[in-house]
Amino acid sequence: MRRTKIVVTLGPSCWSAEGIGALLEAGAQVFRINTAHGSPERHRELIGRVRGVAGKRAVGVLLDTRGPKVRVGDLSQPVQVAPGEEVLLGDGGIPLTHPEAAEAVAPGAHILLADGVLELQVLERCGRTLRCRALRSGVIQAGKGVNFPGVVLPLPALTPEDRASLVLAREEGVDFVALSFAQRPEDVAEARRILGAHGPAVLAKVELASAVARMEELVTAADGAMVARGDLGVEIEPYRVPLVQRRLVDLCNARAKPVIVATQMLQSMVFSPVPTRAEVADVANAVWDGADALMLSEETAVGKYPVEAVRVMAQAAEAAEGGEVPIRVPGLAADLVGEVPAAIAQSACAIAREIRAGLILCATVSGWTARLLASLRPWVPIAAVTPRPEVFRQLSLVWGVHPLLIPEAETVDALLDQALAKAREAGLLEGRAQVVFTAGLPFRTPGTTNLIRVVEA
Ligand code: PEP
Repeated sequence: MRRTKIVVTLGPSCWSAEGIGALLEAGAQVFRINTAHGSPERHRELIGRVRGVAGKRAVGVLLDTRGPKVRVGDLSQPVQVAPGEEVLLGDGGIPLTHPEAAEAVAPGAHILLADGVLELQVLERCGRTLRCRALRSGVIQAGKGVNFPGVVLPLPALTPEDRASLVLAREEGVDFVALSFAQRPEDVAEARRILGAHGPAVLAKVELASAVARMEELVTAADGAMVARGDLGVEIEPYRVPLVQRRLVDLCNARAKPVIVATQMLQSMVFSPVPTRAEVADVANAVWDGADALMLSEETAVGKYPVEAVRVMAQAAEAAEGGEVPIRVPGLAADLVGEVPAAIAQSACAIAREIRAGLILCATVSGWTARLLASLRPWVPIAAVTPRPEVFRQLSLVWGVHPLLIPEAETVDALLDQALAKAREAGLLEGRAQVVFTAGLPFRTPGTTNLIRVVEA
């Protein structure tokens, strides 16, 4: 039973109903729709299609915003730049989609274009125009990304298109929204205002140097995070990306929030039916780092082997989980230790280990106890029963948790009976086993986990 979850990005290679069904069978738990591509109508259609194929299964839908990314604006033709050459960027020069970004850039700053291939150094700023010198050669083309490493850009957290995407996410009841180019905790708060109180979970994508600098605050503000290694590897030196990955995973684990490691995990499988050894090692290392979920982007969206990529990721993750190398467990953040649900989760894991239980069965309304249990990475499988369909689906992203949907119950005994029956029906209990059960009553009130019971079932 694999514990690490898999997020797949939808695209022309896999977005038919048959394709989505095949990815599910291969091991995907969450489907990502990247709003940087396609129309809102297409996004709505895909959400409906995933829901239709998933049926009653715990499958998550993640809507990824386009975000305020600065790109090269309209250019009649590409501009070839040689090292040492001077380039004007912004008003009166190479146009930018967000010309106001230039206002925050000081002389001496470095600017990267086209995934970091072309590097410029700023010599002088005049209003919204930057006079730069090229440090490396490259071609400037319309639509290519422009990165300003380390500069906090005066851009809105959410563009008008992003706001429309969030409204769509709320209306369609998606499970997760990933905020591209989040910089500040306020960006998360602004998204939440649009999404509403019981809206989708908000995941902060860490892909800017300015986000790395405020990672802890971002994790505290959001419901989870993504190590968006594509843009991150341009914004900061690629050699530092693994360090950020490990720190972000630790921060999320310590706050019991799901964390996704994303981008280029099986990149060669865009064209090849088999992965490289290095890619398999990357998957294993992300599992050992403590990722909740691993993501496929181009591999499933536009690749030639989307189903094979999911199968390979599933097998590589499961092999890494084999037990010979322990998964890192940083422990809960100091302010969570001492809370009753955290104490219950820690005790449940300790009891389960000591009595060699077959299952930890947790009744949860908000999903919090399930996430606390998962953050401790117990070897014993975790089943989470909840009466809330949105929590049932949001737990699809959480390491090791098998979400199960059950009706509300009035007594502990009724709750336990229903939970055990559901776990058995889901194949999580075979033969007789000791089960460590955690719950809180009344069942419909979140945050009341206050009991542990051991039963033989
Ligand atoms: C990334 O940059 O790694 C990422 C996941 O973002 P996107 O695919 O939206 O560029």
